[in-house]
Parts: sequence; structure tokens; C-alpha cells
Amino acid sequence: MNKHTNERMNETKNTLNGEREPERYDLHMHSTSSDGMNTPTELARLAAERGLAGFALTDHDTAAGLGEAAREAERLGLAFLPGVEISTRAGGKDIHMLGYLFDPSDEKLSERLEGLRGVRDRRNDLILERLRELGVEITLEEVRDRGGRPLKPDESVGRPHMADVLVRKGYAVDLRDAFDKYLAEGAAAYVSPPRISPQDAADWIREAGGVPVLAHPGLYGDDDLVRAVLAEAKPAGIEVRHPDHGADDEARYRKLAEEYGLLTSAGSDYHGVRQGKVFHGELGGYTVGTAEVEALRRAASSADRGCWKAGG
Ligand code: MN
Ligand code: MN
Ligand code: MN
Repeated sequence: MNKHTNERMNETKNTLNGEREPERYDLHMHSTSSDGMNTPTELARLAAERGLAGFALTDHDTAAGLGEAAREAERLGLAFLPGVEISTRAGGKDIHMLGYLFDPSDEKLSERLEGLRGVRDRRNDLILERLRELGVEITLEEVRDRGGRPLKPDESVGRPHMADVLVRKGYAVDLRDAFDKYLAEGAAAYVSPPRISPQDAADWIREAGGVPVLAHPGLYGDDDLVRAVLAEAKPAGIEVRHPDHGADDEARYRKLAEEYGLLTSAGSDYHGVRQGKVFHGELGGYTVGTAEVEALRRAASSADRGCWKAGG
């Protein structure tokens, strides 16, 4: 049924354009289940509007939005890849590990992600405590309320939500200012959270039948660290196209992908429009084609058969 809808849409597109357009997939974005501004349903509609063939939802440390996104994607005839972006720490840097095509109902993974959100909550308490010491009075209730769009229990709260409150209450002029003054690494109220390693995150994803992909390596500013993470965590892929990568980064990581025999991935890291601005990329602006998605699917099905373990 879904496949049929897909084919029909493609035919329509071909007729309109006179020639076949390559199919595009955006494999990195956030919904209201973490720190994005759009619901999973809205993201699916945006993906359809922008002519994508499919997309992945990759919220921070939660799979809460995947069911809703999958339902709307199916209704619209889009391919959908379940995803997640797990926060880890290595070499003194926050390293993000993307996971794709795992079983969203895997209980072990759900428990593990819940544990990470528990760590997030404790860290959030510590940040709010530091802010209070600095004379900045914001509460967790205000942060969780998100300006009238309250978070559900299994959704993850983070620094962008705090930045919103800081701006609303006049403690910062805009989000950049809120991060620079209070929330960024090294700023007055920054608290570094206890984190799992990239290898743990990659193992969790594999154990749930999924494919780990190292997110935005250019953001870490340390290619020796990137190589160390690739060697230890052994992700199956690396995100080469990302709004924070320049053309030189992209070329460098494509070469690295060849060297390590990795899949290449791309995504916009769309978080929606906050205070009138698109932070990170615009949905659909950074995409892969069918070949990359097929490679991910092959990697996921070999993970299912236990080849990851068997192959070492
Ligand atoms: Mn984010
Ligand atoms: Mn990230
Ligand atoms: Mn992201």
C-alpha cells in the first residue's frame, strides 16, 4: 500500500518535471520530543512539502516521537527511518552518535535512553541551581512548560529550552546571548554532565538492531579524536554533509569514510524556527540519495542477523 503510494507520487513528479528527479532523504532532525520546535507530524508534512522521498527523526536521547512521525510519513507516502541522536563524551568533547533503523520498541534501548534522560534531569537541576546563585531566577516548571507547549514525561529537556526562558524573562537579549553568558561550555552556569562513551552508544544502537553513525565530525574540531572514536566505537557510518560543515570538511570526511569503509550520511539537523531564526539547517537542505539509504538498510539487516558480533 505504502509502496504503491510512493510510486504514484513519483509518477506525478516525473510528469510535472518532464524528467526523473533523484530521490532525496534528510536523515537528521529534531521534533518537540527533544529540542525541536515542530511536532513529528509537522516535520513529516514539511518533508513532503519540500519534495523529499523520506526522512529520519533523530531526537536527543529519546525515541518518543518515532511512532507519530512514522504514522504521518506513511499517510503521506514518505519513507521513514527511525532514528536517535545519543549524547556521549570522549576526549573532553561532547560527541553525538546517531542511530538508525533500530527497533523502536526495543525495551533495553528504551530503558537505556530513559537512564540518559535521568542524567539530563539531574544536570538541568544543577544548571538551574548555578543560575540562581548568579541571581537568575528561572524554574524547571517554566523550562518544562516551553511557553505553553509543555513537555511530556518521555521527552527530553535541554539547554535550548532554558535559553528560551532566559530570553523571555529578559536575562538575555537572544538565544546566542543566553548561551554565551550562561549556558555554553565554559559559561557561568555551564555544568558538564556525566556521559556514556561513543562506544557504549554505538553498542546500544547495534544491540537494538540499528546502525550507528558518527554525527557532524567537523563540530569536534579534532580529527585525531574523530579517528580515535571511529577506531573504538566502530560506527557503520559518518555524517559528511551537515550545516556546520564547510566544503573542505565534507571532502575530508568523504575521504575518511573511504579509508575506514564507512557509509556516508547527511542531514539538516533541523530544529525549527526559534525566536524568528532557523538554527542549524533548513529541513531538506542536506540530503542523501537512495543509494545511501539502501546501504543503511543493508547494514541494519546484517545487524539483525548478528553479523556485527560475528564479524567482530
Ligand atoms: Mn539540539
Ligand atoms: Mn548533534
Ligand atoms: Mn542534532
